[in-house]
Amino acid sequence: MAEKRDYYEVLGVQKTASEEELKKAYRVLAKKYHPDMNPGDKDAEAKFKEASEAYAVLSDPEKRAKYDQYGMAAFDGSGGMGGFEYSSSDYADMFGDLFGDLFGGAFGGAFGGFGGFGGSRSANPNAPRKGANVKTTVRISFMEAMKGVKKEIEINYKEECPTCGGSGCKPGTGPVTCTECSGKGVVTLTQRTIFGMAQTQRSCPSCGGKGKIIKDKCAKCAGTGYVTRRKMVTADIPAGIDDGEGIRVSGYGEPGTNGGDRGDLLVQVRVSPHQTFAREEYDIFTAVPISFAQAALGDTLRLETIDGPVEYELKAGTQPNTRIRLRGKGVPVPRRNERGDHYVTFIVNVPDHLNKEQREALQAFDAACGGTVSTTEKKKRGLFK
Ligand SMILES: [Zn+2]
Ligand SMILES: [Zn+2]
Repeated sequence: MAEKRDYYEVLGVQKTASEEELKKAYRVLAKKYHPDMNPGDKDAEAKFKEASEAYAVLSDPEKRAKYDQYGMAAFDGSGGMGGFEYSSSDYADMFGDLFGDLFGGAFGGAFGGFGGFGGSRSANPNAPRKGANVKTTVRISFMEAMKGVKKEIEINYKEECPTCGGSGCKPGTGPVTCTECSGKGVVTLTQRTIFGMAQTQRSCPSCGGKGKIIKDKCAKCAGTGYVTRRKMVTADIPAGIDDGEGIRVSGYGEPGTNGGDRGDLLVQVRVSPHQTFAREEYDIFTAVPISFAQAALGDTLRLETIDGPVEYELKAGTQPNTRIRLRGKGVPVPRRNERGDHYVTFIVNVPDHLNKEQREALQAFDAACGGTVSTTEKKKRGLFK
């Protein structure tokens, strides 16, 4: 998106412009560039949007103050009109203020065509909304991660207040009809404009658009209609999950509103490291010490895997740090019938102390090899009697 022009510049007014001056400037531009007046003219549409955005900000004292202080940065990440916290009904209000019923029912059509005019936001406060997601963390052992585990987690569970049934009213009482809007949730303002009398509807400020007011609040939930209690939830953690990965437990987030679904519980899984097994992706790595004799002669070994010990025929003449692969003995890939491999590295242990018998055996071995140990070394170690 191109660099945005300064809002005051867009409207062609001074920074000190009064509300009345802003309104006047915008009215001229909006009339000139309104899509209904310029069908199919993309340039006019863009100018209309630009002017509308500028006016939306500058006509709101709070937003104007922010803009004066921080400039465009005050609305960073807004991505243009879509990011403005204005629903199309707000714009309709705004235009209603300015133009009354000049454009009649045209607003619906005009706004419908503007993807950027907050069209994705539901203007209806009574529309069902899904509840917020709730996050938590659980720690499991390495072997639990290998095998999969059902973990009991205690969470804060927000639900409808049992005392008032979610109404927020003291038992035996009920919400009363809002006197300001007579229960309609909206108030109608009639204003004189240059185009004649204009009627606009706004969400009722007294009841927040609900049409009802709670006079006697429920003591249990303080009128919120919700209580929070501790609840145990079973998280079904699949085999193969890695440290830091998460799972979703549907329906254990916050309750929805107006009959919307509950949000979800998002569980981040922390996996404790294992003393023997190291994991990398879906492979497992271990180091197994063997003796010089085992390396030279070969042996039948029992190697620890996450499935338990497996027998392995160590070849005679195995070199130090030889790495072998136990195919399919690695980490299960979650939700797939696949597994990584297990790599074993053989570490040949060299004894750091020899008793007499061991030394003599090695001397005999060395002699059989043609005497590889040097004379000075033999002297130093007292190998000569
Ligand atoms: Zn209650
Ligand atoms: Zn009201």
